[in-house]
Amino acid sequence: MKIFDEMESEVQSYARSFPVVFNKAKDCYLYTDSGERYIDFLSGAGSLNYGHNNDNIKQALVDYIAEDGITHGLDMHSDAKRNFLEVFRDKILAPRDMEYVVQFTGPTGTNAVEAALKIARKITGRSNIISFTNGFHGCSLGAVAVTGNQHHRGGANVSLCDVDRMPFCGYYGRDVDTVKMMDKLLSDPSSGIDKPAAMILEAVQGEGGLNVATNEWLQAVDKLCKKHGILLILDDIQAGCGRTGTFFSFEKAGIKPDVITLSKSLSAYGLPFAVVLIKPELDQWEPGEHNGTFRGNNHAFVTAAAAIEHYWSDNKLELAVQEKAELVTKRFKKIIDAHGGIALGLKGRGLMQGIDCRTGELAGKVCAQAFKNGLVIETSGNHSQIVKCFCPLTIATEALSEGLDKLEQSFAEVFADEKLKKAS
Ligand SMILES: *Cc1c(COP(=O)(O)O)cnc(C)c1O
Repeated sequence: MKIFDEMESEVQSYARSFPVVFNKAKDCYLYTDSGERYIDFLSGAGSLNYGHNNDNIKQALVDYIAEDGITHGLDMHSDAKRNFLEVFRDKILAPRDMEYVVQFTGPTGTNAVEAALKIARKITGRSNIISFTNGFHGCSLGAVAVTGNQHHRGGANVSLCDVDRMPFCGYYGRDVDTVKMMDKLLSDPSSGIDKPAAMILEAVQGEGGLNVATNEWLQAVDKLCKKHGILLILDDIQAGCGRTGTFFSFEKAGIKPDVITLSKSLSAYGLPFAVVLIKPELDQWEPGEHNGTFRGNNHAFVTAAAAIEHYWSDNKLELAVQEKAELVTKRFKKIIDAHGGIALGLKGRGLMQGIDCRTGELAGKVCAQAFKNGLVIETSGNHSQIVKCFCPLTIATEALSEGLDKLEQSFAEVFADEKLKKAS
C-alpha cells in the first residue's frame, strides 16, 4: 500500500473501506493481486449494473477497437454515435412513448447535472432551483449546491446560492403531504420562496439513504411543476438504467420529466458517459453554448448500444430484476427479524435496497465485517446508517444468495459482538 499512501491525495474514500489491490474482475466478482475473491455488492456505486467485463458487451468494444473505430471525436458525428442514438431511440424512448433530444455532456454525472440546471435557468430566465432533503447530485459547484449532504457542501468553500431546499417524500413521515406544503409556499407571494427555474430530484435517493418517492408523490410534484410553470429535472443517474426494475426509475409513476440526467450505468461497462435528455421544445441551446472536450465517449456509445440491444430488446431483464429484488427483500426481512432487539429497517426499492442500522457506526461495522467475509458492500444515508445492497442486475441467483448469506453472517457476527459488549 506504500505507493498509495505516498502518492495519492487524502481525498480517496472507498479505498479506505477496502484496503486491498484489485487486479481482475468478472461479472459480480472482484479479485485481488493476492488471489482473494470478493462478491461485489457495490458495483461502482451503480456504474456496473451489468457486472464487470460483461461478455455480452465486451466483444463489441474489442471489435470496435481492433477496427480502429473513432475513440475521440469531440462532438462530431461517428457511426458509433449514430448507432447509439438509433438504438436508444428505438429500444428505450419509443417503447415508453418518450420524445427527447439527447445532449452529450462531459462524461460524469455532475457534468449532466450542471447542463440540466443551466438549460432550465436559460429557458425560464430564473436563477432559483428547488432541490430536496437528502438529494445527491454531484460535487461540482452547481450540482453540490443542490445536494443536501453537509460533508460535500462544506467542501465547496464558496456560497452555494440560488437553491431552496424542500422536504422529500416522507421526510416528515408518511402523513405529511410535502407537495401541498410546497404548493402553499409557491402560491404565496410573501413566502420568501422565489419562483424556481426547476425542481431537481431523484425518484429513489441513492446516496441520501434509499428514500423512495411514491408514485403518487411524483405525480403530484409533476402536477405542481406544471401548475406553477416550473421545469422538472429527474436525476436518474443512479436509480436509472434498470436499477429499480424498469429502465427509468419513474416509469411506473407515468410522468414525463422535462429534463432527465443519466450517467453511471448508461455505458453499461463502467466507462464514463453522461447525457441530458431534453424535451424537444425545451432544447434552446445555441451551438457550443455549453461544451466540453470529452462530450460523448465513443467507446461508451459502443458498449451502451450493445447493452441496450442485448438487455432491453425484451422484458427479460426487468422481470429478472423484479425477481431478485423480491429475494433481497425476503432475505433482508429475515436479517431484520433475527436482530429485532435492536431496531433495523428496510429501505429502497428494486435492486437498490438496504438495511437501516440507525447508526453509521453499526452500519460501518457490518460493512467492515462483510469485507472480512468476502463481500464488498457500502453504506448510504445522512448518517451513513444504511447498508446498501447494490449487486449487479445480471448477478446469477446463486451468487446473489451467496452474497446475502455473507451479509446475514456479518450482521449476526456484529450483533453478537454488540450484545457481548452491552453485557460486560
Ligand atoms: C453519482 C451521482 C451523481 C454524480 O455523478 P458523478 O459521476 O459522480 O459526477 C449525480 N446524481 C446522482 C443521483 C448520483 O448518484
